Amino acid sequence: MATKMDKVKPKEEEYAEEDRSIDTLLRPNTWAEYIGQEHIKRNLRVIIDAAKKRSEPIDHLLFYGQAGLGKTTLARLVAREMASPMKTTSGPAIEKTGDLAAILSNLEPSDILFIDEAHRLNRMIEEVLYPAMESRKLHIVIGKGAGARTVSIDLPPFTLIAATTRVNLLSEPLRSRFGAILRLDYYDEGDIERIIERSAKILGIDITPEAIKILAKAARFTPRVANRLLKRARDYAEVHKKPTIDGASAKETLEMLEIDELGLEVHDRLLLSAIIDKFGGGPVGVGTLAAALNEDRGVIEEVYEPYLLKLGLIRRTPAGRVAEGLSYKHLDKKTKDQLL
Ligand code: ADP
Repeated sequence: MATKMDKVKPKEEEYAEEDRSIDTLLRPNTWAEYIGQEHIKRNLRVIIDAAKKRSEPIDHLLFYGQAGLGKTTLARLVAREMASPMKTTSGPAIEKTGDLAAILSNLEPSDILFIDEAHRLNRMIEEVLYPAMESRKLHIVIGKGAGARTVSIDLPPFTLIAATTRVNLLSEPLRSRFGAILRLDYYDEGDIERIIERSAKILGIDITPEAIKILAKAARFTPRVANRLLKRARDYAEVHKKPTIDGASAKETLEMLEIDELGLEVHDRLLLSAIIDKFGGGPVGVGTLAAALNEDRGVIEEVYEPYLLKLGLIRRTPAGRVAEGLSYKHLDKKTKDQLL
């Protein structure tokens, strides 16, 4: 029976909740289910085996790479393999040094502490982390001014796993305290196809190989996007009473979402058009581009650009961003030479 609470729940929240429970179903629980990123899995294997042999917690690890590439999933797999409970927090959630002190002082031996968005930890918090990572000490300042004193607390052996999309924003002293820094790269198309195939199987979705290929091509080489496209394609097929997601419904789903065959969304195309139409193809500084698009500079650098660079649609030069020939072709625009 629907309760009063259910009735007042906004629609988007219901969707978000449904998506979240699907995400839990789709999350790989074993190394075998974690598709691709073979070099990282090999590296981790060595680190984990060595730690197990010494009966010690593993070294602190830093995972970096674009959102949705599987950093959190990887951290969970490490924790599972070490049979260690994982406590999760994130850079923006730790506002005060006291927040971190509370988290650290509650750790149990061999716990894994996962900090997502580690580049958003402020410097003062980083400074509490250094001794905790290096010598398992928590220094707390008690009192203020002349009467202030520092108390040191011993922490149990624990492992910090940090994840970030922007490793260059982490301070060097923090970076240097990780035993291993592992970069997650974009997946290749074959891996993305396997991820879609696996997810479809788990969700009981009937999908043709052609549809898998179409969705994979538009998935920005990113598992989270691949799963999202699959879910939207399932919705589309359901609404149109199609028992199977075939090539046509995959294409129609992408059209409905305004995603083109390269996986570009409206904002990506706007960015490329702006470089070409407003700035003569570039070079244009990212700050200027951000202002022209009324967009946050960080979002451009962190979210949009990496994929456009990966596809070779734009190029970074010391003078700014330049649109490559492929952008002109993709957007059906004439280059300066063609206009002459
Ligand atoms: P990140 O922490 O890098 O933002 P997540 O670990 O949250 O990314 O991964 C996003 C989603 O993509 C996960 O819920 C999972 O279902 C899926 N995923 C990520 N990596 C893989 C992989 N290697 N194989 C299969 N599915 C994956």
